[in-house]
Amino acid sequence: MAIERVVDTSVHEDDGEEQKVELSLRPVSFDEYIGQRRMKANLRLAIDAAKKRGDVMDHVLLYGPPGLGKTTMAGVIAHEMNANFRATSAPSIEKAGDLASLLTNLADGDILFIDEIHRLRRAVEEILYSAMEDYKLDIVIGKGPASRSVKLDLPRFTLIGATTQTGNLAGPLRARFGHSFRLEYYSDKDIQKIIERSAKILGTQIETAAAELLAKRSRLTPRVANRLLKRVRDYADVNGDGIIDQATAERALEMLEIDELGLDPADRNMLTLMIDKYGDRPVGLNTISALTGDEASTIENYYEPFLMQLGMIMRTPRGRVVTDLAKKHLGL
Ligand code: ADP
Repeated sequence: MAIERVVDTSVHEDDGEEQKVELSLRPVSFDEYIGQRRMKANLRLAIDAAKKRGDVMDHVLLYGPPGLGKTTMAGVIAHEMNANFRATSAPSIEKAGDLASLLTNLADGDILFIDEIHRLRRAVEEILYSAMEDYKLDIVIGKGPASRSVKLDLPRFTLIGATTQTGNLAGPLRARFGHSFRLEYYSDKDIQKIIERSAKILGTQIETAAAELLAKRSRLTPRVANRLLKRVRDYADVNGDGIIDQATAERALEMLEIDELGLDPADRNMLTLMIDKYGDRPVGLNTISALTGDEASTIENYYEPFLMQLGMIMRTPRGRVVTDLAKKHLGL
């Protein structure tokens, strides 16, 4: 089992307490949602237009690396539309019947959020096509020559799909979303605002210089920023008076072994192994996975996007290459 990483951007289902805190930090309205200005402006327009027409909003696809605020934005859209929010994730919809019962239980105007929508099974996905297109449920009753196809009317709903991998989304599914937004990494300034907002909600005092420092090491990602804040708060509670000032933040980050760019020991280990064993040659994802002991999908979805954003890793058709920038950062 892989070691726990503070900079982890995934959500662990067994982590009840962590999830509760995460929920309390989650923005509810557009005004609370920091950054992603272009997406917000476009969504605001779409919501206003739908409301004015008294209609539901077109289906929305949100994509981008984990922890950037896709689930949060789906909840914000529901809030702004005054709509019910039903959330599920693709791996938990096992059979076509599961989706059929989800859809038939919706009410007019509801928002259905499906996380990790690229992982829908084929048979489930096909049910979704006609549901999205004309609010009809196309099902086959019976088997063999006696079987017949029935169309049921569904309530008008808005589907919000989230994915980290648009590349793996079937073309016909992607085509059925009226809106599609890519979430961008956040600026340090916006992450700092998120940290200051979260500290206020958690009832922790943080000095501006400390918030700035934490922001620089949060991998441009709100989920990481909130995780770091909580760990540093623990440190300040145990080793000081609970106030997070710059010196406390620095010591806590040093203890967590998070460097100036937000890399942790696992990132540095991966880069170092790639350089040691392969130098400037491209390395395949499965080879990296064998080197580090992490699953290939974990590397691809959680760790690599940020290292690519920093320009430490490049993707080539023949594999991943560590850049000079990474070598410089590691002092090699
Ligand atoms: P994703 O669905 O993309 O993995 P989430 O929506 O679950 O990411 O966001 C992770 C956490 O980060 C949320 O619980 C929320 O507290 C925080 N967060 C995300 N986006 C924002 C934002 N724009 N402003 C403030 N906090 C945010």
